[in-house]
Amino acid sequence: MQTLTTREALRRARAAAREPFGLVPTMGSLHEGHLSLVRRARAECATVGVSIFVNPAQFGPQEDLAAYPRDLASDLQLLEAEGVDLVWAPATEEVYHPGFQTWVTVEGVSRPLEGARRPGHFRGVATVVAKLFNLFRPQRAYFGQKDAQQAAVVRRMAGDLDLAVEIVVCPTVRAPDGLALSSRNAYLSPEERRGAAALARALFAAQAAYAGGERHPDRLRAAMAGVLAAEPRARPDYVAAADPDTFEELTRPAERVLLLLAVHIGSTALIDNLLLEPEAGA
Ligand code: AMP
Repeated sequence: MQTLTTREALRRARAAAREPFGLVPTMGSLHEGHLSLVRRARAECATVGVSIFVNPAQFGPQEDLAAYPRDLASDLQLLEAEGVDLVWAPATEEVYHPGFQTWVTVEGVSRPLEGARRPGHFRGVATVVAKLFNLFRPQRAYFGQKDAQQAAVVRRMAGDLDLAVEIVVCPTVRAPDGLALSSRNAYLSPEERRGAAALARALFAAQAAYAGGERHPDRLRAAMAGVLAAEPRARPDYVAAADPDTFEELTRPAERVLLLLAVHIGSTALIDNLLLEPEAGA
């Protein structure tokens, strides 16, 4: 496994790499969710590259950039064990060089939910992912359903800008109690960690209502809100039942519903989501 830090070294390694090239962008502090993306890329691509970069541009001024967990040595060990070919772990100045002033802004799908909760977040994501796509020139790039709106923003950007990359979205990896794995789970105290399972319980409650025939977004939202209200540590930022393509809140019953939650557990903001749709062939 080659571990590189400069753009120049990355360009050289990429030029020599066999194709198809698969890229897994990450912010490090890797867990089984990230590794599921790496394994899918390993199964599908001749060369697998992973970027590890805590992207300042996608953090708001009041957010957790400084505190964000970092453990490069452990990350490299995990990636080596997965048979990754190339890791790029640049310093901030290597990505945002002096005089940097160009941004990628995706409109519609960036606006609601996470876009409203975190102004500028998706501009930072789209810009860094566009740069990663230019540097790595991957045929395929792997993202997690855990960050559903991010994956939609990236897919929109790649399509709109004619970037020749296939966006592959992989299922959310969960802990046994349902909590979606996230680097931010490391912030939780043991008590908060128990409370955090309420997010998944809320999604599963709405899923059960949907399975029982419920299609009205108000009642799906109410099912989630009810579970969260019973967890004293949970402070919801949004409880959404949205259109899976536009991420706009549904106002009428629908067959395809994307449930999305952003919930503070103590001072930690967690997100999760679940897609409800009729079973194939049903
Ligand atoms: P991050 O390091 O948080 O920026 O995440 C890097 C990639 O891993 C993103 O595409 C995430 O959606 C994905 N990811 C994070 N957590 C999970 C999870 N629990 N299951 C699947 N993918 C995940």
